[in-house]
Amino acid sequence: MGQMIEGRWDCSSCGKKMIQGRYKHCPGCGKGRGADVKFYVADPNDVVAADVPEKGPDWLCEYCGAYAPDSAKFCTNCGAQRGDKTYFDVQQEQEEKAAQEAASHPERTSEPVRRRSPILPLILLAALAAFIIFQLIPRNADARVTAKSWMRQVAVESYVWVDDSGWALPQGAVLTESRREIRDYERVLDHYETRSRQVPEQYISGYSTEYQDMGNGYFQSVQIPQYATRYRTEYYDEAVYRNEPIYDTRYYYQIQRWIYNRTLTASGEESNPYWPEETLQADTERAGERDEQYAIQCEAEKNTYTIRLPLMEWQTYNVGDKVNLELSSGGTVRRVSHAE
Ligand SMILES: [Zn+2]
Ligand SMILES: [Zn+2]
Repeated sequence: MGQMIEGRWDCSSCGKKMIQGRYKHCPGCGKGRGADVKFYVADPNDVVAADVPEKGPDWLCEYCGAYAPDSAKFCTNCGAQRGDKTYFDVQQEQEEKAAQEAASHPERTSEPVRRRSPILPLILLAALAAFIIFQLIPRNADARVTAKSWMRQVAVESYVWVDDSGWALPQGAVLTESRREIRDYERVLDHYETRSRQVPEQYISGYSTEYQDMGNGYFQSVQIPQYATRYRTEYYDEAVYRNEPIYDTRYYYQIQRWIYNRTLTASGEESNPYWPEETLQADTERAGERDEQYAIQCEAEKNTYTIRLPLMEWQTYNVGDKVNLELSSGGTVRRVSHAE
């Protein structure tokens, strides 16, 4: 329990200030304490040595508007029956009334937020849109086929002995050598290391004193603990790992494989392409990947365009044909078609 402090109050009738809480009537004008009284602590040293006369709050007489002590069953001013409105009820009513008044008269200090002009971003957006549209719009150009070309290629593979190695010996391989080698690593717990970290904790750094209004001219002092943060060093063990090698047998061997050897090429400008031919050595050579390319060359607006086409489409064009080119804004051919 804290100490008892004698509070003070001001007289609304004659304006006298700092009247001690023990006085139920103003020593200046004699007016009793009423609803407009609010107690306050003027000096924390106003400690009451003896026990305070009342523990509970004063109550307000509905007939004469004066406060009467908690212990009184009848108004000490007019003798009327006790009402049930205490000093605290009156204080709460007055606070609510003040809050309502503040809400109905909001302060007009907030200025309207100055907005950025929306015109500049709009211009940039429009410019970007125009650029994209410009990029997408193709233009057409009249052209003439000036050349045709084709190329066909076949890769030749040879069945040869090659060196290789692995963790198993394949069928048909001729072993040269085998030895123990590191195949993988395993993470193994090696030891623990003690490390430290800072852990925050709350502690009471002191106390502040608050004065609780008892509603009868007196206050009770209460010690409120003040919290602060401090750090303490905490130790813990952290696992440290190492990589342990795993050994296995590695085989070094020679084995026969199909390996790329050379490329056969045929090319021309005529309209009947064919695959290159060469006699392959039986058992040790074979044909591998094939590749084919067909292109036409067109001239338009003093520019020459080389356009690659699939075989079927390529065959429909002849040197001297009039064609229509769909060009992107960058100048690349997007489409070619026969002129109407
Ligand atoms: Zn007075
Ligand atoms: Zn009364």
